Amino acid sequence: MKSFLEKILKADQEKYKDKNKETSSESSQEEIEVVEPKEDIRTEPFDINKAKNKLESLGQKISKLIQQKVELEGYKLQYFRVTQNTISPFLLNTKGTREAIYKDGLIYIGNEKLYFESDADEALAQSVLKDGDDMLFYTSYPYFIVAKKDIYNEYQENQKELQKVRQNKHSISSQYEEIRRDIEKYEFWEQYDMPFKFVVDIKPVLSGLSENSWGNGCNRATVYHVRPREDISQGKLKRKNGDYLCSQQSGRAYYSTCDVNISELQDIVTCKQCLKRIGKYKKVSYAKS
Ligand SMILES: [Zn+2]
Repeated sequence: MKSFLEKILKADQEKYKDKNKETSSESSQEEIEVVEPKEDIRTEPFDINKAKNKLESLGQKISKLIQQKVELEGYKLQYFRVTQNTISPFLLNTKGTREAIYKDGLIYIGNEKLYFESDADEALAQSVLKDGDDMLFYTSYPYFIVAKKDIYNEYQENQKELQKVRQNKHSISSQYEEIRRDIEKYEFWEQYDMPFKFVVDIKPVLSGLSENSWGNGCNRATVYHVRPREDISQGKLKRKNGDYLCSQQSGRAYYSTCDVNISELQDIVTCKQCLKRIGKYKKVSYAKS
């Protein structure tokens, strides 16, 4: 059985291979290669004001879409229940819709004659339908239903529109969430003046590879630590590049597959020990909070 570390390294290697499919064609399958996180290649600094403006405009879009969604969902198809004294097999076998017509207070599908099932339906039909109106007949178990053709088509269009609005809302909401998280990360790190290069990383734990995890060594309870990316020696605190700030435990050569790209905004640190250690790097203006 493979050791845990080997598994992780393998997983990292796979990821590396995927990312470099085009550039590293001759890389050997057997070779285990340690993947180092990318160095800071960000060309533009994160613009917090731009992000906040974007968040606001996305928020407005989302509320507009919610409004549209509520309106579209409120559109109910006006229909009538119809029946026959003796139900014809022809109607029972109907799948989908059939053209029908409203005439003399009844519904006709070819020679088939249908009555409104209730007085209420009949009264409503008389008030909204005109002789010769095109209708669509469809079955909706256990009922036979007719609706005015143009109203039915309008309803179908409405349903399509509703689907689009729902999809838009979904994709804009995830954009919103992404930017919101970036702002959160930015505002966290803005409080600090870190004197060394670092990444925020998790410690691989076996449970992180269980079936309940995301398969990349992370799970919901994952704690985020600071890992210096250079050797540091500050008073009693000595750490090597790749160590965890909170413990002498060596970071080994392994970097998790979670968010270790320094070109991105670093995650918020959640490890209590790491938080305590970076406390002394808090900017004066934030020191009290
Ligand atoms: Zn830690």
